[in-house]
Amino acid sequence: MALDLILERASLPDGRSGVDIGIKDGRIVELRPQLGAPARETLDCSGRLVTPPFVDSHFHMDATLSLGIPRLNRSGTLLEGIALWSELKPLLTEEAVVERALAYCDLAVAQGLGAIRSHVDVCDPKLTGVRALLEVRQRVAPYLTLQLVAFPQDGLYRYPGARDLLLQALDMGVEVVGGIPHFERTMADGAASVGDLCQIAAERGLLVDLHCDETDDPLSRHIETLACETQRLGLAGRVTGSHLTSMHSMDNYYVSKLLPLIREAGVAAIANPLINIVIQGRHDSYPKRRGLTRVPEMMAAGIPVAFGHDCVMDPWYSLGMGDMLEVAHMAIHVAQMTSFDAMRSCFDAITTIPAAILHLEGYGVAPGCSADLVVLDAADPIDAIRTKATRLRVLRRGKTIATAPPQCSRLDLPGRPGEVGRSRPMAG
Ligand SMILES: [Zn+2]
Repeated sequence: MALDLILERASLPDGRSGVDIGIKDGRIVELRPQLGAPARETLDCSGRLVTPPFVDSHFHMDATLSLGIPRLNRSGTLLEGIALWSELKPLLTEEAVVERALAYCDLAVAQGLGAIRSHVDVCDPKLTGVRALLEVRQRVAPYLTLQLVAFPQDGLYRYPGARDLLLQALDMGVEVVGGIPHFERTMADGAASVGDLCQIAAERGLLVDLHCDETDDPLSRHIETLACETQRLGLAGRVTGSHLTSMHSMDNYYVSKLLPLIREAGVAAIANPLINIVIQGRHDSYPKRRGLTRVPEMMAAGIPVAFGHDCVMDPWYSLGMGDMLEVAHMAIHVAQMTSFDAMRSCFDAITTIPAAILHLEGYGVAPGCSADLVVLDAADPIDAIRTKATRLRVLRRGKTIATAPPQCSRLDLPGRPGEVGRSRPMAG
């Protein structure tokens, strides 16, 4: 029986090259050099990188593309962003949130994103964002996996009624428990909220992803509580601490004790390099702290670390293109991860690691996996990050859902095995 599609002469993120990828009924069925099987369509990748899609593990789709409504963030700080979002929330309509989110999903797919975990603010008696994004999740499902986190932006205890609204959002079908312990009024309230939220997740069999210690305060230590609660409730592999920027400023001795705790608890970390580098250190004169959490140290300790985009054109961040390669590029610079191995691990932080954090099924380039693939105009993962490589073709379940023509900016460098020449067009 003929295959539906063969991607010929692909390079894979793990370094294999010259591989043919056979696709049938939306799945990868064969993977080896010179497959030579009959197929309805073949695409010669000429050594280009074929990767499973990018995964954005931390985003705010209820706020995206709202830049300037009702005004701009003048100070650029996190706190003015939260205040501005509070001004915008009463003005939101379900239709407007759906429209902006769908526009962002179109952009995301063209950028090779296959899955997005989006926090959705539940501190709204009408749950406008929740209703809108539940509809968006259903509408984009054929081409993009959207996973929603019930996020009490104004504090689980600080905002009256937030806990009930969070439970209501979970009842409506939001699948991950969120929180923001550092925004509660006291450290004790923050720690209590962590325990409460983990308990809710344990009772309902849900994943947890808290905005955790997104502050420059070296004594903000909710990640410690999160790790302990994860251990206590047996939630290993199901809990994530997002941002963790306070770790940038923590005492080194304390961190040497904290890293093994996070690893042993089975807690994952998500850093947001584009946002952390512009939001943190705002109260510093000079030297200014970068604020990004300790990414290479966490990776070395065996903690799964993913990178998120967090924001695109919203109250917190005026820029952004939905490009996870730009996110990885920023991480490499801010965390000074310029060794080849480190750069390579930054590619994992926008693909396989977040896929595991989101518990995505069928993700990867192997027989049996979903045929969700992106053909990049690059030879390898580092080349892809360097050039923010064009997404020549994006596949979902074996069907093409986005294409783009090659750009004309690449160099042909001798001595780099597998380097793809710009002069060789992709034959289809
Ligand atoms: Zn966030």
